[in-house]
Amino acid sequence: MIRTRFAPSPTGFMHLGGLRTALYAYIFAKKNGGRFILRIEDTDQERYVEGATKVIYDTLRGCGLDWDEGPDIGGDFGPYIQSERKSLYLPYAKQLIESGDAYYCFCTKDEVDERRKAAEERGEVFKYDKHCLSLTKEEIQAKLDAGVPYVIRHNAPTTGETTYHDLVYGDITTPNDILDDMVLIKQDGMPTYNFANVVDDHLMQISHVIRGTEYLSSTPKYNLLYKALGWDIPEYIHLPPVMRDQHHKLSKRDGDAYFSDFVSRGYLPEALINYLALLGWNPGDEREFFTLSELQDAFSVKGINNAPAIFDIGKLTWFNFEYIRRLPFDKYLEMATPWFEKALGKGRFDLKRLAELMQIRTEVFDRIPDMVRFLAEMPEFPDELYVNKKMKTNPEVALENLQLIKPVLEGISDWTETTIHDTIMPVIAEAGKKNGAVLWPMRIAISGKENTPGGAFEIAYLIGKDETMRRTDAAIARLVSKQ
Ligand code: GLU
Repeated sequence: MIRTRFAPSPTGFMHLGGLRTALYAYIFAKKNGGRFILRIEDTDQERYVEGATKVIYDTLRGCGLDWDEGPDIGGDFGPYIQSERKSLYLPYAKQLIESGDAYYCFCTKDEVDERRKAAEERGEVFKYDKHCLSLTKEEIQAKLDAGVPYVIRHNAPTTGETTYHDLVYGDITTPNDILDDMVLIKQDGMPTYNFANVVDDHLMQISHVIRGTEYLSSTPKYNLLYKALGWDIPEYIHLPPVMRDQHHKLSKRDGDAYFSDFVSRGYLPEALINYLALLGWNPGDEREFFTLSELQDAFSVKGINNAPAIFDIGKLTWFNFEYIRRLPFDKYLEMATPWFEKALGKGRFDLKRLAELMQIRTEVFDRIPDMVRFLAEMPEFPDELYVNKKMKTNPEVALENLQLIKPVLEGISDWTETTIHDTIMPVIAEAGKKNGAVLWPMRIAISGKENTPGGAFEIAYLIGKDETMRRTDAAIARLVSKQ
């Protein structure tokens, strides 16, 4: 049975790299008829963040990554929150003490810090010096009886090397003398992240550990613990980091690191998931669009690239645009409305019509207000906008043609797109003019913009007759004054 897990620490944010890890762990389990488990790794209680588990739940569910076992839905291997498993870890640490693979350490933090400082001054990389390993059984018992605070440390070998196989990175060999005696149980009785992770992956029968490459170098230490406890080592799939460029990580400060940064700007979870799937993995063909279930069919560990994945916001934006285009119209209208209202207020415009015009032009929802603001407020614009070689217009032509249509517009009483169109078009034809030579200036005069959702008739309809006349008059007056 394939069992994968996503094991986030509740920090309050979901990093895009973390979300991609969750995605691959989910797809890999589903593809193989296995189970996807959610485990919350909150042994670092000092870093506890209120509401952080909810962020994890909401993000995963919002992306369709539903777990088969987890804190809120239970399962046969619960609890799935490490702080609720606290009592479970100590017996394993004691087993390791019995076998000589771990030991009590009574050194205080200050003592260890002092030795670290001294080592650094000598230009050495500090690792715990096994000081307490030499205590006798009696000395240890006396300290325990006296209630001296302690941690339990792994007794890592100092010679030889440890090799393991990673399904993405191949064989990884580490000389044992660089491994330090990591703490397994902390003074407060909580396991460290490193220890709980091993114990839980074993107890939860995780077959494939899928996580970021930041754990590649700790994995030999974990494997030594598996061996000492007599447990099978899981398969490993380490994933390359998601980077802004070769040298820079995505960062909180730049607002490009977290799922929530993107969702609040108006990226769709489906687009993010599709893009993240391809960030570090490729299907081996040209396909780019994948639903979650299509990903399950296409995914294979062989397609994972072991080079850092460079996050390309342009590509993500393109995916987003494509996903927005494909939204059912009502869904688009519902999602776009708050963004329209940001620029236009409530109740002044036919948002349904605006949405029809905007859906195929929306790359990211947060770009909507700037695109539609001109409907509520006429922007200033330079006369050069009237210049269009293809349409054969310039300010002089614009003035002539605006003067031609102004009285025609004034005469329209039933202000709909169709009537505006059906009234203006014959006038253009009768005057022997090119459509563009009239409609380009009209659109510029009433929008002040080179690019608008919809053409002259749509905009005239949206802003209404009074505003269309006001803007047309103002444009004519300005052109006249410049003659
Ligand atoms: N709790 C770890 C993290 O949030 C997970 C590491 C793992 O998957 O083993 O980075």
